[in-house]
Amino acid sequence: MAAFDLPRPQFMYSEDIRMFEDMVDRFLDENADAAAQRRWRNQGYVEQETWRKAGEAGILGATIPESYGGSGLDFRYDAIVMERQGRKNALNFAYSLHTTVVAPYLYHYATPEQCRAWLPSAIAGDTLLAVAMTEPGAGSDLQGMRTTAVRNGDEYVINGQKTFISNGHGCSLIVVAAKTDVNAGAKGISLFVVETDKVQGFERGRLLDKLGQEGRDTAELFFNDMRVPAANLLGGVEGQGFRMLMEQLPKERLVIAWQAMGMIESALEATVEHCKTRKMFGGTLFDQQNTKFKLAECKTRATVAKTFLYHCTEALLAGKLDASTASMAKLFVTEAQAFVVDECLQLFGGYGYMTEYPIAEMYKDARAFRIYGGASEVMKLLIARSI
Ligand SMILES: Cc1cc2nc3c(=O)[nH]c(=O)nc-3n(C[C@H](O)[C@H](O)[C@H](O)COP(=O)(O)OP(=O)(O)OC[C@H]3O[C@@H](n4cnc5c(N)ncnc54)[C@H](O)[C@@H]3O)c2cc1C
Repeated sequence: MAAFDLPRPQFMYSEDIRMFEDMVDRFLDENADAAAQRRWRNQGYVEQETWRKAGEAGILGATIPESYGGSGLDFRYDAIVMERQGRKNALNFAYSLHTTVVAPYLYHYATPEQCRAWLPSAIAGDTLLAVAMTEPGAGSDLQGMRTTAVRNGDEYVINGQKTFISNGHGCSLIVVAAKTDVNAGAKGISLFVVETDKVQGFERGRLLDKLGQEGRDTAELFFNDMRVPAANLLGGVEGQGFRMLMEQLPKERLVIAWQAMGMIESALEATVEHCKTRKMFGGTLFDQQNTKFKLAECKTRATVAKTFLYHCTEALLAGKLDASTASMAKLFVTEAQAFVVDECLQLFGGYGYMTEYPIAEMYKDARAFRIYGGASEVMKLLIARSI
């Protein structure tokens, strides 16, 4: 039995993709091996140097338009990076948040001059990107956010607080959601680009101590009369922030699903190998019928999840991925991830509980996938709207 052997569909295969994939593998082998992963987890972040090396390798700019220094490729290349990161247990390097989630806010909604000012250094790995929506009192219900941005001459004065912000510790450019009209609900939300080394009144909180994904830096941010140039209002018109978030969310949900899928495949591969080599009762763990049944269930969920993921990816490339289908992808793949990783850990027995075994790290890391980027319950709500 192969752990996982779903062939790639034609649209996901080309000589260019294969070469890109080889390059990503080389980068991860050299910069994200077990020692680097351990170091990231211990210190709570990935060093700037690793980001720069990713920039040099061309990984950070693959899908950014050539006019802004990127390679102008499409989402398939992002998917390949996430798949390979998952397979090599290197998902704590928050490449996708930087490149696939935040950079598109810039090139879709900033002016060409701003993109030329901001994107090349992000592609080079010199500027680390973050997006700050969540607040202590507003996560799933973003309309409840309390951060405000008040126009004052040619500046906005921003006051408020954000929490759980990935890359919050190391970032130097943040897309911040704030209310420009506190009485207008979703239409009162705007997005601002904050260059952290150019503003007063910006403070980072401590690195948050998490259950898993310890190598991803996650921090609180505080804005106290923080002044940003009015030109940094994304799109140039107040009240467009919620629409922009909604436009980008289908892809962001697919991004989370691709990462979850990479982890599923890695878990299955490691577990099948373990089961076939772990000796017991005169044979191997794999010889037990329960093991075969469990692995069969896991492989089935993995195969269904990936087939649907390919379907959604093809739809995204064609500009046809709607919000509810993207929500189904995030819901299904991250729930499959939880099931598979838990069953796989069980098959490792006590070794599965030891953090020196990747399956234990996966178990911890997987838990956040059903919460961030919209909790599973919020996905169900969005799917139900299409019924
Ligand atoms: C590791 C990590 C990284 C993150 N990175 C970022 C980031 O970079 N930027 C950012 O802005 N945010 C980030 N977040 C925040 C994340 O997006 C929020 O945690 C998430 O949206 C849930 O919001 P909340 O934590 O406020 O929980 P709540 O909104 O309080 O929800 C709690 C629970 O209530 C339930 N629930 C919520 N809504 C409904 C509903 N309508 N119906 C039924 N049940 C419901 C769900 O079970 C949910 O899990 C991150 C979070 C984590 C854990």
